[in-house]
Amino acid sequence: DSELKKEDLQRIIELMDGFKASKALFTSSKMGVFDLLQTRPGLDAAQVAQELKASVKGTECLLEACVALGLLKSKGRTGQSPMYENTHLATRFLLSDAPLSLQGYIRHCNDTVWPLFSHLESAVQDGSNQREKAFGKKSQDVFQDTYYNSKEVKLRFMNAMHSIAKVTGKAVATAFDLSKFKTACDIGGCTGAMAYEFTKAHPKLSVTVFDLPAVVEMSEHFHPLHTDNRVSFVAGDFFKDELPKADLYILARILHDWPDEKVHLLLSKIADACTPGCGVLLSEIFLDEERRGPSRGLLQALSMSEGKQRSATEYSLLLKSHGFVTAHVKHTANLLDAMLCIKA
Ligand code: SAM
Repeated sequence: DSELKKEDLQRIIELMDGFKASKALFTSSKMGVFDLLQTRPGLDAAQVAQELKASVKGTECLLEACVALGLLKSKGRTGQSPMYENTHLATRFLLSDAPLSLQGYIRHCNDTVWPLFSHLESAVQDGSNQREKAFGKKSQDVFQDTYYNSKEVKLRFMNAMHSIAKVTGKAVATAFDLSKFKTACDIGGCTGAMAYEFTKAHPKLSVTVFDLPAVVEMSEHFHPLHTDNRVSFVAGDFFKDELPKADLYILARILHDWPDEKVHLLLSKIADACTPGCGVLLSEIFLDEERRGPSRGLLQALSMSEGKQRSATEYSLLLKSHGFVTAHVKHTANLLDAMLCIKA
């Protein structure tokens, strides 16, 4: 029927405006709006503009947009300009020093993902990522050729991984009973954020973080205040080098980056290192079996990396072909799901 439904119009407008909302969030986060208003709540637009060294007009527009998006609150004063402060959402996720800060990931979205998505048409036409168009550099391996080429980009990527791992770490670490495992190896464990969540949740577990030398050499920048001697770091290439021995191998957000051939290469190395009873704890976004959602996973796939997003069944089958039996699958309420597989 031709009647216009208000919800339909609302939904389509939300989708059309989504990119403006994202960019407003990225910009206010990058300019330091939320950190400033946390230490000095109640500033007006002119004061914020002065602190951020930005125009009053631009700052006013940005702050008003943040209010409409639920990131800031404004208090009107008769005859005076409104005062701004953070909402609980901003305090929880957008301050640089909040325990669940997403600032690192937001920065990565702004500086890396946004330029890639601005070439989405070519990405879809070619079926390949647009890193060369977006950043002017040819690359084979996204990590070694793009992210770890410059210290600045490397730290930005590590910060992004760190912030997501801190938000999801506890849900992944507590998804299953891991009491029978004494040693774990976090393959591609980056800054160690996930490893620290595992040792916090499992007092008898030690975790070795295995990642590329370029990453391991920077890991001390990310150690928590109270370091834990049950977390250690080993540098190497998981496609080429020997993997550290462990009872449990953690693969968090690793397999989606790689095509099936590379996944088989890595899984066969893990299987070789395992004795019966050893485990693999896989953590990814699991697509629905019909590939209809979650949209987060399907939208991420549009960055057209070498890898692909898979369902829990697809991951189970990949692991099964290396002798791992899926024991449990858990859809957490957090950003990542988890699966525990045991070597037969
Ligand atoms: N597991 C972490 C997490 O969930 O937050 C980080 C995931 S990140 C998407 C992928 C990680 O794999 C990066 O830290 C990267 O350096 C690492 N990596 C990529 N290629 C690698 C290789 N060939 N050998 C070892 N680590 C590698």
